[in-house]
Amino acid sequence: MRLDKLLANMGYGSRKEVKQLLKQKAVRVDDIVVKDAAMKVDVDKQIVTVFGERVEYTEFIYLMMHKPPGVISATEDKYDQTVIDLLDPTYQHFEPFPVGRLDKDTEGLLLITNDGQLAHNLLSPKKHVPKTYFAHINGCVTEADIEAMKEGVTLDDGYKTKPGHLVILEAGDTSKIELTISEGKFHQVKRMFEAVGKNVTYLKRLSMGSLMLDKALKLGEYRELTRDELELLQ
Ligand code: URA
Repeated sequence: MRLDKLLANMGYGSRKEVKQLLKQKAVRVDDIVVKDAAMKVDVDKQIVTVFGERVEYTEFIYLMMHKPPGVISATEDKYDQTVIDLLDPTYQHFEPFPVGRLDKDTEGLLLITNDGQLAHNLLSPKKHVPKTYFAHINGCVTEADIEAMKEGVTLDDGYKTKPGHLVILEAGDTSKIELTISEGKFHQVKRMFEAVGKNVTYLKRLSMGSLMLDKALKLGEYRELTRDELELLQ
């Protein structure tokens, strides 16, 4: 890989800014000062430093975001802010994208990466990756709803859902529930409740596979996955 591309990719500024670093003799490859932006570097074998600090090359990024409401889970949108817009510019050149979609008004766990293979594995219907949601429901959720979700409910387009695991946390005029499903149809949780005559008024994703939303992340905040979290997903 070209040295200037490597440094720009790793967040050392634009190609122009990287040129400045090279001019300042701040960059060394295998302990030799390099000023040639076009130099080819073998990232697996050679050691690159900037002002003495080792540049660790990474191809993929894996971020866990606590998606806030009002933001679109897409890479770009004509009208609204996207989850990618919330990321620090140092992550942008990795060309990250959200793994699957949460509705504009849904909050919670969103994985953002540039690893297409991992995203495919998590989203593939064949893999049945469970996703757990916490929701407020307008109406009293009952044992009959638990049974209905377990059986699978018929959505407005005639599709019968796979079994869902519903847990009632609070039942009343407004109920609080957790629902675990292993599919990802459009507006699925909202439509599953509509199928039993109730409305979701608040929705938050808590987990995806073995990845749980970090409770320390406030709405709109994100962090890189730990090595253990990443291993659990693969
Ligand atoms: N189900 C929904 O209805 N909305 C989401 O955002 C996610 C799951």
